[in-house]
Amino acid sequence: MRSARRPGGVRVFFALWPDEAVRKALHAQGRLVHAQLGGRPTRAASIHMTLLFLGEIEEHRLAALQDAAGNVDVEPFGMSLNRVACWPHNRIAWAGPERVPPALEDLVGRLRQTVAQAGFSFDRKPFAAHVTLLRDAACRALEPDMASIAWRVSDFVLVRSSLDAGGSNYQVIGRWGAREEA
Ligand code: ATP
Ligand code: MG
Repeated sequence: MRSARRPGGVRVFFALWPDEAVRKALHAQGRLVHAQLGGRPTRAASIHMTLLFLGEIEEHRLAALQDAAGNVDVEPFGMSLNRVACWPHNRIAWAGPERVPPALEDLVGRLRQTVAQAGFSFDRKPFAAHVTLLRDAACRALEPDMASIAWRVSDFVLVRSSLDAGGSNYQVIGRWGAREEA
């Protein structure tokens, strides 16, 4: 459930945003899982992996958050999305890496540290590397295998989440990547 909006508030989170090829592959995977579990597939344009969820912040603090994010560099890494699963407690079916790359854990750790240092609070649940494919899924045993999707990560984004008639709508409002060579 989403908390009530305050005027002047924006709902934001950091994420990995797939390129076109990975997005298409994940969306296709979503269709396969949908055929098994039903539910509501994530719109292709919304497919992402959340790194850090801040929730509502005051809009005037966005610039400070964006500044902080600029201090986090990305050591490019690859990740194999090769596992699909379903969480009964929230009825989310997802794809993720069987082995979470240490570089991904490291990126999340540095992002948390930097964002905390800048005075922002966020959800401190342990990071769960997953891409939501379906909501309201009827979770049960899944055909175990998915064709592995290779995701090359070289940047992360800040996303603003708002509601429209079709549900949550995401807008990328910042992107940061590998530190440029001097
Ligand atoms: P809705 O909440 O309207 O159903 P949504 O979950 O897609 O849609 P948001 O709630 O804004 O949209 O969430 C944005 C992203 O952050 C999603 O990937 C969501 O799973 C993740 N997220 C939301 N709340 C938390 C939280 N408390 N901790 C970690 N990640 C979260
Ligand atoms: Mg939500």
